[in-house]
Amino acid sequence: MSWKRDIPFGYKMEMSRIVPDKTEADIVRQIFSMYLAGNSLKRISEQMEASGTCYHAGTCEWNKNMIKRILENSRYIGSENYPEIIDPQDFIAARMRNAEKKQNLKPCHTGIQAVEKLSVCAICGARMYRNTRKNARPRWICQNEQCKETLIITDDGYRESIDRALAHLALSPALLDPCAPDEQQVSPDVLRLKNELTAAFNRGSESPEYMRSLIFALAAEQYNALPDMSLIHTLKELQDRIVIEGITEDNRREIEQKAVRRILLGRESGVSIELINGKIISSKEEAEQ
Ligand SMILES: [Zn+2]
Repeated sequence: MSWKRDIPFGYKMEMSRIVPDKTEADIVRQIFSMYLAGNSLKRISEQMEASGTCYHAGTCEWNKNMIKRILENSRYIGSENYPEIIDPQDFIAARMRNAEKKQNLKPCHTGIQAVEKLSVCAICGARMYRNTRKNARPRWICQNEQCKETLIITDDGYRESIDRALAHLALSPALLDPCAPDEQQVSPDVLRLKNELTAAFNRGSESPEYMRSLIFALAAEQYNALPDMSLIHTLKELQDRIVIEGITEDNRREIEQKAVRRILLGRESGVSIELINGKIISSKEEAEQ
């Protein structure tokens, strides 16, 4: 069943023109102000549901994605000939808050229960669970029913494999280089706004306010698409530490917590670690991309 709306929430057609829908436009403004006041997407969607407002005809259910789509829709500041219902500065502030959220670092972890949280299947990427039976070595089993990849390894063997991969990292700290910029994708929102800006310049008939809104929206989207500076900073810090101190008994767990994003398990590949920049180090052989 498709609930896709023909025109974005907040607008309606009137005499074949798109105009703000008073009730919905007020709700859009309310959503932006709630988000900028620090409310979570979930909290806002609950609030919307409680208010009895309907996003779609036919159901008054709200979810986080609907709120997210509203907060990201640059039509609310006047792009693509839609009437402006949100102040561009509020729109930009909302995009900035989203960018800040993305930079929060993952929580720390220790012990085998902790590596369990990081363990994923080398074949399909699904979570791997540790399954212990009496008098047998732990089995790591892929939770994907179609895959069921299994690795049998002792807890000590698992830890030693991670330590071997970390020893490789100690020899090649360059593995913690940030990814090259060309590996990052241009977001579809940036492309859409660039196209609209070019088209608006060519039309030459747009108001300065509209052009200003577009340029602001594009700047906000480009800011959002910037590489994660806190990640680059973390990578550089880890690299410096490894170069100066090496990986020792004392700092090994801490470096592991900061540098490892996931641990890939597979029957063939054994244990590999994926660093926070996406590079993979196998505990078996030479590092690979
Ligand atoms: Zn799998």
